[in-house]
Amino acid sequence: MSVVLEGRNITQDYHIGGGLFGASKTVQALKGVSFSVEKGKTLAIVGESGSGKSTLARIIALIDAPSGGDLLIEGQPVNIALKRPDPVLRSKVQMVFQNPYGSLNPRQKIGSVLMEPLVINRPAIAAEERRALAEAMLVRVGLGPEHFNRFPHMFSGGQRQRIAIARALMLNPSLLVLDEPVSALDLSVQAQVLNLLADLQEEFGLTYVFVSHDLSVVRYIADDVMVISQGLAVEQGKREAVFANPTDAYTRQLFAATPVTDVEAIRARVAKRQAAREAAGAPR
Ligand code: ADP
Ligand code: MG
Repeated sequence: MSVVLEGRNITQDYHIGGGLFGASKTVQALKGVSFSVEKGKTLAIVGESGSGKSTLARIIALIDAPSGGDLLIEGQPVNIALKRPDPVLRSKVQMVFQNPYGSLNPRQKIGSVLMEPLVINRPAIAAEERRALAEAMLVRVGLGPEHFNRFPHMFSGGQRQRIAIARALMLNPSLLVLDEPVSALDLSVQAQVLNLLADLQEEFGLTYVFVSHDLSVVRYIADDVMVISQGLAVEQGKREAVFANPTDAYTRQLFAATPVTDVEAIRARVAKRQAAREAAGAPR
C-alpha cells in the first residue's frame, strides 16, 4: 500500500496580541503530531472544540504553513518555508469546509463555481470541454446539468455540500481534506452525503482526512482514527481498535460524553428509500 500523506512532528504556534503596548502571547495549537495515511483510506481526526483539528486540516490542505515539522504528499516533501507550494502538489490536495455557503459566492452560478479551478489551473482545456467536465461532475455528485445556471441560494444545505465536493474534485486530487463536512446537515442528509463520499472514494481511489467531533460519523467513515487534545495526538490507530479499547483517559471521557447514534441504521434506511424511489421511477 502506498502512503499518500505523511506528517512528522507538525507544530503550529499562533502569535496573538503584541503590537505597541499589548502583551503578546503564543498559542501552541499543535505541539508535534505525526501521522500517515495510505491511498484510498480515511484518517479521521477527532477531538473537542479548540483541540487543533482545523489547524491541522488547514496545514494538510496546504492552506497554512506549519511552524515546524515535515509534511509529505505522495512521498514528496512539501517545502513548508514556501508561502505558495508547488502548484502541481497544490492541485493534488483539496479542502471541503463545514459551511459551503460561506465558501460559495452568492452571485456566482454553480457552473462557473465548478469550472473556475479548470480556468485557473488547466487553461489549455477548451470552453466546451470545461463545461462538459463540470456537467459530468454535477451528475456524479447527484445533481444535474439543469443546475448549471443556478445560484447557491437555490440549493439546500446538502446540495450545496455536494457542489463543494464537486468543485473540490474538478482537478482530480488524490487527497481530500474535509473539515466537519456534514456537521451542519440534518441526520438523513448527513447519511446521504457520507454515502456519496464513500462512493467517490471507491471510484476515484481518493484518500480522505476527515475532521469531526461526531463519533458516530467517525465510526462510519474512518479506517484510522487520531484523537487530538490540546494540540497533541493522545490516541492513534485502526478504527476498531480505538473504539473497542480506548487507551487514553481523555478518549474514554470523550466517548462516554458523546451519544453515538446508529449511523448504520440511518444509512440502511436511506438506501432503502432510494431503492424504492428508483423502482417507482424506473419501471421495467
Ligand atoms: P478545532 O478545529 O479543533 O476546534 P482549532 O484548530 O480551530 O480547533 O483551534 C485550536 C487552537 O488554536 C484554539 O485554541 C484556537 O483558539 C487557536 N487558534 C485557531 N486559529 C487561530 C488563529 N488564526 N489565531 C490565533 N489562534 C488561533
Ligand atoms: Mg474546527
